Amino acid sequence: MAKNKMGKKRDYYDILGIDKSASAKEIKKSYRKLAMKYHPDKAEESDKEKFTEKFKEISEAYAVLSDEEKKQKYDQFGHAGMDGFSQEDIFRNVNFEDIFQGFGGDGQGFGGIGDILSEIFGGGGRSRRTGPQRGSDLYTEVDITLKEASKGVEKEIRIRHDEVCSRCNGSGAEPGSDVETCEVCGGSGQERRIQNGLFGQQIVMSMCRACNGTGKIFKDPCHECHGRGTVNEIERVNVKIPAGAEDENRIRIPNAGNAGEFNGGYGDLYVSIHVKPHKDFKRGGNDLYTDKQISFVQACLGDKVDVKTIYGVVELNIPPGTQSESKFKLRGQGMPILYRSSKGNLYVTIKVVVPQKLNDKQKSILEEFSKVSGDEIKTIKKGFFDKVKEGIHH
Ligand SMILES: [Zn+2]
Ligand SMILES: [Zn+2]
Repeated sequence: MAKNKMGKKRDYYDILGIDKSASAKEIKKSYRKLAMKYHPDKAEESDKEKFTEKFKEISEAYAVLSDEEKKQKYDQFGHAGMDGFSQEDIFRNVNFEDIFQGFGGDGQGFGGIGDILSEIFGGGGRSRRTGPQRGSDLYTEVDITLKEASKGVEKEIRIRHDEVCSRCNGSGAEPGSDVETCEVCGGSGQERRIQNGLFGQQIVMSMCRACNGTGKIFKDPCHECHGRGTVNEIERVNVKIPAGAEDENRIRIPNAGNAGEFNGGYGDLYVSIHVKPHKDFKRGGNDLYTDKQISFVQACLGDKVDVKTIYGVVELNIPPGTQSESKFKLRGQGMPILYRSSKGNLYVTIKVVVPQKLNDKQKSILEEFSKVSGDEIKTIKKGFFDKVKEGIHH
């Protein structure tokens, strides 16, 4: 793993984009940033493999450089210094969890890193559940307006999912019916199994299939859920969308997915956010872009004009002699930056409007203006354009 085209492993410092002199804090910061970027949860389906590879690469670099002993060996001998370490050794004792703590506020962020590493390395990251299986994750979408994204919004969504059966509290047994200890696993709910993983053969404990990991066998299945311990129902879920949310952002709501059978625990709900386009504003990251029409007289003489922002109206100073397509920056009038107190900017493009119809008085004033300016204009007689048009058609 972590090899380039030549089959040579890339330098861990290069992978994390840091100096050899980087402090522990800098190493952590850089890994955190890259791990957010390449977290497989963030990838589109087509990029999943690429993200996973990259994620593995940066995680390995961090595992080595965040450990004093391994870092020393690596600094002295390079990758050769790692020869004595198995993949499992490299990842041992690395606290990935604290890297991601606090991300996403409200516990709504990405999936646990331990789960992902465990998925990637086939059981090396964290021991697997051996009891009843956790319910599956669910995915849904929610539409919001740009204005809602600018302030943050709470949306209620309805989701159909498996819930713990209230009649049997998830056990699957009809209340009051006889329950016996599973003879296959002796009530432990676990079964020993040999698994071929990245680190060779391992004995792993897995769920007892005779009792579905519950350790119990019941004679009379629950009349409500027919012994599964779950029922399928529609539930309302509140989704808190933070200010600054962008299109395609995903929010994880822990335990709002499907309930696992026999009290296996709930999966998570992932909500993809779709920010609808706005008629007045275009968005580029945290910045917003809009057009403002002014008259050619305002452009010549300058003026104070009202400009609509996503938050309301602000006054913009148009200096005399402003050209069409001039851009003005309104600092802090863009979108909020996710989980920060600062905001992007609003860029206003001036569109100078040339009047299409002039009355006689306006025309004579402009002719006078032209004369005073010393500009020679071959006065176009009324109806000239109409004649030209006719000429084209005949
Ligand atoms: Zn039930
Ligand atoms: Zn059993």
